[in-house]
Order: sequence, then structure tokens, then C-alpha cells
Amino acid sequence: MTKPVSMSPVWHPFTQHALESAMKRVLKTEGAYLFDEDGDAVLDAISSWWVITHGHRHPRVMEAIRTACEMYDQIIFAEFTHEPAEQLARGLLAVVPAGLNHVFYSDSGSTCVEVGLKMALGFFHNSGAPRSRIVVMEHSYHGDTIGTMSAGERGVFNAAYEPMLFGVDRLPFPLAGREQDTLDAFETCCRSGEVAALLIEPLVLGAGGMRMYPASVLTELKRIAEKYGSLVIADEVMTGWGRTGTMFACEHADISPDILCTSKGLTGGALPLAATLCTAEIFDAHLSADRSRTFFHSSSYTANPIACAAAVANLEVWKNEPVAERIRELEMMHRQRLKRFELDPRFYNVRQVGTIAALDLNVTASGYLSDAGPKLRAFFRSKNLLIRPLGNVIYLMTPYCVTQEDLGRAYDAIEEAAGIFAVGAQ
Ligand SMILES: *Cc1c(COP(=O)(O)O)cnc(C)c1O
Repeated sequence: MTKPVSMSPVWHPFTQHALESAMKRVLKTEGAYLFDEDGDAVLDAISSWWVITHGHRHPRVMEAIRTACEMYDQIIFAEFTHEPAEQLARGLLAVVPAGLNHVFYSDSGSTCVEVGLKMALGFFHNSGAPRSRIVVMEHSYHGDTIGTMSAGERGVFNAAYEPMLFGVDRLPFPLAGREQDTLDAFETCCRSGEVAALLIEPLVLGAGGMRMYPASVLTELKRIAEKYGSLVIADEVMTGWGRTGTMFACEHADISPDILCTSKGLTGGALPLAATLCTAEIFDAHLSADRSRTFFHSSSYTANPIACAAAVANLEVWKNEPVAERIRELEMMHRQRLKRFELDPRFYNVRQVGTIAALDLNVTASGYLSDAGPKLRAFFRSKNLLIRPLGNVIYLMTPYCVTQEDLGRAYDAIEEAAGIFAVGAQ
């Protein structure tokens, strides 16, 4: 395929450059909006790939970044520590489910899940009773590195890398009325005595199509894991920081995972940072005069001080601003607007958990590679809305500062899109 001479050398993620029109430059961000070079204000209805929680450029977070810049850049995180990392670790332990005691920093969602997997395997290895099976849920997504792809759903996204991927055990997704099948499958896996960990997205499988399942399933999975001495790794990369209505989604199930992974909303979305939290038991299994038991993991940019300072500021926003109320209002706004789609035959699976709303558009060819996704995306962009359906799954996951009016505009556009793209529409 010949390329236009003027083509930018930048290779964008999840982008088929042969089909995509030229990228618009964003000149500024603020609140729930991206302002582009054409002077358009685009409503960021997916929080720039789920990272922005309060809103773009939250003043308190921006101020913390400016202040940190006066003191630090990257600092080696072995032999030295720094105040933002220390403060953040203490702050995190105060807001995550009880039972987590140690904080390991990295720099993306994928890496913090990799770290979680390595912690789990290291735990069993160092305990002298090695286990290496990882159990995941069908349709899950845990990142794009080789390890996290191995754990995630297989398909067109990773077909090329298949020979490199390791095997995991997969549980059927707990469809309504079929929850017991998931639990039974997990118990069967656990009986082998080889399951190191269940790696799971609590309550909602994000990239797998915003599939939601009841908290009680998670509670039961944790109970089964405990019974067989397997660990539970909660991948809260997407669900953390209020998305499901509580600070972390595990709270709905009233469970404390053994390992918790967080990244996207950790800095309010301002800078890349991730943390993997674990129990004292897991840390202690690596604590030894024997150097071979060291946790051998590091990213060069581990615990970047500026990013940590941004995350500390994010914690302050949670403490000092009415974030929980904002989230409750947003939940209500979604509930009200979703209601009208519930009996609409052009949609199915109308669903919501906390601030995440999703519905499937009734189209002839569904699935990620169907034309529905790109067509809908283009339609929404023509209305200055950044909404990226996953195939025929339309979802909204806005920053919490979104107004009723903004959200109304998004829902009106979804309704209009159904009139154009749904089965039977003229
Ligand atoms: C986005 C995501 C990841 C990967 O995070 P990156 O920062 O993109 O590497 C992992 N797990 C879940 C549940 C996610 O939504």
C-alpha cells in the first residue's frame, strides 16, 4: 500500500493508518474537553482511554507537578527513596481494602499486572511449594505485554504473537443465571493444587466489551481461592479510583485481594504511574538473607517523583473535594438516561456499574472488527464527541466533572446513531 508523502512518522496505538484520516492535533485540554487545532471542543466521553478521573488538568494535581519539578526529575529507586513515593505508599494503604501492606511502583497498567504475576509466582517459588498456573476469566484484558496478553482474551489482537504466549486456565464469564458454572470451573482448576493465582478484573471486564458481573461472584471466587491456598490478583487498572462507584471495585464484593494492581486513575490521569500492592505474606516470602529471594523487577522509571507527587495530589483531591458526591450524581445521570434505552429494540444489554454505562447496538455484524465500531466512532466525532465503541458496544466513561448537559449531548447522539446504524433503521 502506498503511503502519502506527507504522512507523519508517528505510529499510533490501535490505529490502522491505512484507514484512518489525519490525526487532529490537540492544543489544550481542560475539564471534560479536548480542544483541537480546528477550534473544536471535543467532549472526552471515554476519559482519554479511561485515565482521566476528575477532569483534565485538575488544578491541584497540576500545581503538585509544578512544585515537584522544582525539586526532582527521575531518581534511581534502589538505594534511595523520596518523599512523594513514601507519602503515596502510606496514602494508598489508607484507601485500598485492608490487608494490603506493601507498595511496588511501576509505570503502566501492563507492567503493574506483570509485577503482580511475578509476585504471585515468586511467593510460591520462595515458599518451597512452587505453583505456576494462572487462572483468568474469559474476555478479560490485562495489558499488551507478552505476559499480560497471555492472560488476556486471545483473538485478532494477539494472533501474531500466539507462539510466544503462555497458557492459562480460563473460566467462563458469569452470565446471568450461569454464575455457578464460573465458580465450579474455578474450583475444578484449584483442585489441581497448581493454581498460583486468579487474575481478575473486578465487576467489569473493560476492553473485553464492558461486560459486567455481580459482586457476589467475586466474593465467592475469593472464598474458593482461600480454600485452596491460591492468591487473588485484582486488576483494578480500569475499575480503580471511583469508576464503579466505590474507590476500588473489590469493595463491592467486600474482599481484600492478595495483590491489587492500579494505574489509570492513580495520578488522576495526569502522568503515567502504576502500583502493585500486596500482603505482608507475599512481601515476607521475598524477605531473606538469601539474595536469590529478592524480587527481581525494576523499570527504569520506577516511582518517578513527579508522577508520585501527582498521585499524592490526587489522593488529596479525594480527601478534600466532594468526589464521592460527584460520582453519585454521575451514576444517577446515567441511570436516568439509560432507562429510555432499556425497552428499545435497537439496543440490548443496557447496563451500568457506577460511572460506567454501556449498551450494545443491534447491528447485523457485531464483534470488534465489524464496521460498526469505526462508523459509530466517525459519527460521534462529527458531533464533537470522543466515543470509541468496542465493536457494537457503545459505552460512556467520562471524567467526573462532566455536566448533565454534556452527558445529555452524548446520550442524544447515541440515540441518533441508533436511528442510523441499528438493524431495521432507515
Ligand atoms: C488498560 C488496562 C490495562 C493496561 O494498562 P496500560 O497502562 O495500557 O498498560 C490492564 N488492565 C486493565 C483492566 C486495563 O483496563
